[in-house]
Order: sequence, then structure tokens, then C-alpha cells
Amino acid sequence: MSKFILAVDGPAGSGKSSVSKEVARRLNFGYLDTGAAYRALAWAVLNLPDFNLETLNSANLMKTFDYEISLNPDEFWVKVGGQDVTVAIRSSEVAEFVSQVARIPEVRGFMKELTHKLINESKLNGVVVEGRDITTVVAPEAELRILMTASEEVRLKRRSAELDKATVESVMRQVSERDASDSKVVDFMTPAPGVQLVDSTDLNFNQTVSAVLSLVDQVSSKESND
Ligand code: C5P
Repeated sequence: MSKFILAVDGPAGSGKSSVSKEVARRLNFGYLDTGAAYRALAWAVLNLPDFNLETLNSANLMKTFDYEISLNPDEFWVKVGGQDVTVAIRSSEVAEFVSQVARIPEVRGFMKELTHKLINESKLNGVVVEGRDITTVVAPEAELRILMTASEEVRLKRRSAELDKATVESVMRQVSERDASDSKVVDFMTPAPGVQLVDSTDLNFNQTVSAVLSLVDQVSSKESND
């Protein structure tokens, strides 16, 4: 049986990470957070002597960026060169810088290859792959593709609740700026043809998870009938 790929895109605060993780748990699938690789690369540029924005254009990137990530939704970690950077990549320094790294075309090509490699190497029946361009660029062939959205107000509220230390104002500024910058590179606000829209503005967490699981059911029963 080939792997079931569930691609989930959406802006910051849409609920896509927590919902994707829960869906992965319920289905016994892996969970792949593709934003973590962009963050880890941004962290490497900020912290390691061999990385700078110029060297990211080179073919060497594939060899020098020693990246590992857990696909277990209950045991999440990210490593660069064997060093655990799970917490470090969530810093506001990285969050403010990551869009600059993500807009380099060679980086995007590299991330696509890296994502395919991580999916192929995993020995799971399925993987929930979450990001910004998974439904359109990285895995347009996925069995199910979902764009998860929510109104801007709801998204900002959810992000502020997650980062209790930061002030609401600075979180709002950061999320809005990052979305504006990222959406110049990939459109993750409107679903591409064939992509299912899940709008979680008026749904709570469990309702959103159920909405995604029922889409999975529909695809799975269609596949077994074909
Ligand atoms: O998902 P997360 O907010 O952690 O992603 C961090 C950053 O990585 C985004 O702001 C965006 O710049 C970049 N990203 C991307 N394409 C993806 C996933 C993330 O450009 N598929």
C-alpha cells in the first residue's frame, strides 16, 4: 500500500499545527511540520559560521544542512548537526528572520526535496504534512489536500494565547508581518483547484479535527470503491 499523504496548508494561527497533530494521532500517521525546516535553516544562518544568506543559493546546501526531525506527533524534536534546536527555532529572533530565508527560490527547491526525502524514509502508512505550499508545490499529488483558514481576528487571538510571554501587540505585529511577507511568495489564503477549504473561524478544536477526519473518510471510501 502506498503512503497516504494528507497535505495541510494555511496561515499562522489557523489551527493547522494542532489540528494536523491530532489528526495524525487519531489515524496513526506521522506528522511533518515543514515550517520547522525553514526555521531551523534560519536558525543556522543566525548561529552557525558556515551559513549566511548568500551560501543558501548554492548547491552545497543539501550537503551542509544536516537536518533531522521527528515525525511522531507525541514526541516532537528538531536537530541541526545533532544539536537539539526544538526550542531555539521558536524564538522571536528566528520568527522575524525566517521569511527572508523562505523567499530564496533555491531554498524552496531544497525544502521540497527534503520534504519528499523525509516522507519516503518514514515507515508509516500515512503522513500529515503541514505548511504553506504543500497542497500546491510540494505534494500536489497528495491523496487529500486541505487549506485551513480562520478570520484574522481569530487567528491573532489563538497565536497570542499560545505565546503567553509576548505582549498581544507584538504578536499581532509579528503574525501580520510574517503572513504579509510569506504570502508574496506563496498564496496560502485561497484554495487551489481540488483543495478542500476548512474554515475554523466558528469551529472549536474538536469540530475542526472532525471536519478533517470526515474528509479523510470520504477520500478513503472513494479510493476503496474505485
Ligand atoms: O509554520 P511556521 O509558522 O512554523 O513556518 C515558519 C516559516 O517558514 C513561515 O513563516 C514561512 O516563511 C516558512 N514556510 C514556508 N513554506 C512552508 C512552511 C513554512 O515558506 N511550507
